[in-house]
Amino acid sequence: MKLTNFKWNKILLKISGDSFGINTSVVQSFANQIKKVVNSGLQICIVVGGGNIYRGVSSSNNGMDRATGDYMGMLATVMNSLAIQNAMEKLGVQTRVQSALPISAVCEPYIRRRAKRHMEKGRVVIFAAGTGNPYFTTDTAAALRASEMNCDAIVKATLVDGVYSADPKKDNKAFKFDTLSYLDVLSKDLKVMDASAISLARENKIPIIVCSIIKDENLNKVLNGQGTYTLITD
Ligand code: UDP
Repeated sequence: MKLTNFKWNKILLKISGDSFGINTSVVQSFANQIKKVVNSGLQICIVVGGGNIYRGVSSSNNGMDRATGDYMGMLATVMNSLAIQNAMEKLGVQTRVQSALPISAVCEPYIRRRAKRHMEKGRVVIFAAGTGNPYFTTDTAAALRASEMNCDAIVKATLVDGVYSADPKKDNKAFKFDTLSYLDVLSKDLKVMDASAISLARENKIPIIVCSIIKDENLNKVLNGQGTYTLITD
């Protein structure tokens, strides 16, 4: 199955915290790529991770209460969302940040119908604070928001250009999958997205495209069926 077989109108881009780390040039490159997608007429919304700043699970191993650590992680995603917003607004792209945890002086609260309206008007909506609940991840937030916004696809931007059989940095026999089914990902326990995110995408029949957008232009290439990626569908 090739990506050129699909026609997208609305996509959700998931950017993990690790892939940008508030490095201004990386954030700027992401913003440039997103601007091109907006200019091509696609509606786009974004879920940003927070792992570059704070991860609840790791902190709970160091004696921090898990739920407290998770709330700190969610606040970290708000910081990353503002960084992306700032970079895009500088390029003249209209954006709104909506947070699952209300922080009214900084951004809008998450309101589904309002987010949809923003997208219809060509604004890029950045969903911050994950699902708003501890014990979840921003991958699950991505699958949830993609379902709520009726997105045609989830683009999961990672540090590698697709899903591999093993860590390509550690194992030279590791190979990249071109396509996978949701069930393959779950049964092979491939570390693409957590099981709740995969199950939610599967239930709502939303294809997941795993790729890297570290290189300029990659996002547009992938959406046009070029470049390298792994496609996860039924
Ligand atoms: N988090 C949470 N609930 C959510 C989303 C995120 O509690 O719905 C917390 C959790 O502690 C997580 C942190 O926020 O470790 C940062 O998110 P994540 O690890 O998913 O970011 P990424 O790996 O994409 O950078």
